Amino acid sequence: SSNGHIGILGSGLIGRSWAMIFASAGYKVIIYDIVAEQVTSALEDIKKQLLTCAKDGTIRGKLPAEQQVSLIEGTHVLEKVVENAVFLQECIPERLDLKHELYRNVDVIINKQTILSSSTSTFLPSVLSKDLTCKSQFIVSHPVNPPYYVPLVEVVPAPWTDSKVLETTLSLMKTIGQSPVKLNREVPGFALNRIQYAIINECFNLVEDGVVNVEDIDKVMTDGLGMRYAFLGPLETAHLNAEGFKNYCSRYSESMFNVCKTFKPIPKITGPTADNIAEQLEKITPIDKLPDKRIWRDLSLMKLSQLKKNN
Ligand code: NAD
Repeated sequence: SSNGHIGILGSGLIGRSWAMIFASAGYKVIIYDIVAEQVTSALEDIKKQLLTCAKDGTIRGKLPAEQQVSLIEGTHVLEKVVENAVFLQECIPERLDLKHELYRNVDVIINKQTILSSSTSTFLPSVLSKDLTCKSQFIVSHPVNPPYYVPLVEVVPAPWTDSKVLETTLSLMKTIGQSPVKLNREVPGFALNRIQYAIINECFNLVEDGVVNVEDIDKVMTDGLGMRYAFLGPLETAHLNAEGFKNYCSRYSESMFNVCKTFKPIPKITGPTADNIAEQLEKITPIDKLPDKRIWRDLSLMKLSQLKKNN
């Protein structure tokens, strides 16, 4: 309904980003947290961030910053955030006991029309929602950090999620300027982390075998594959690297298979190789410089997102 609001459950890093994204599209947003001071500091932080974005020209949406700020309010009363919400995005810590407890409390007050969506990075929607009366209204919308600049959202239904809930969530994500992908069914790690883990595993094995050092492995991505992947996925890259994907397969599938046969088994990311990687990484970015490096990362991603928008 046009009178309903978006409810954000948990006002930490991810909850704040979701609030800013929904407000940028003109939605009224209520953010909720069990820690009352968290709500206050979230509202202050959001205001500061939006004003800075406006000054830098990186603010999303067409509304002036002040108006976006005024669309967001806070509460520590669960009823207030749940009642009349069209969509609830849960962003509390990645702990099953905490999420289950919150959902139990939401379950008894939620409307039939409200979608309950989780930002979880690791829990399957079936595991999160199996005991809920409202389980057909439950879905996972997994964002990528920082969501304000990285638009991907993995939308993952449980086996019992209503197909209308799936379609509404996908179209809502598009409306607010995110880039949703639909998983037809739940799998551990969803799609992003399965691919990310395959990459980390191979990087780990190459360091373990002494083939390439950490700095150079990361360069393979940042100055090689990553440059393409910001614009073209691996499958379309293949399509373009030959006369279409069929031609790519006939040219390369055999040699690709032969390379892959030399892959080592899945490594446990621990032990002396993990220590060696950590040591090399700490020389590149010392632990006390990580906050600075994160600011640089977010700034770089912001510039990339501008470039992609104009592309
Ligand atoms: P966070 O620790 O920054 O914030 C969590 C917030 O939830 C805190 O403000 C805390 O006070 C509040 N909270 C705790 N229990 C609560 C409850 N019962 N009810 C209401 N609020 C409660 O965490 P985050 O990094 O924002 O992560 C939130 C979720 O998003 C997690 O499920 C995480 O897996 C997922 N996620 C995180 C990232 C990331 O990079 N941080 C990326 C994608 C998805």
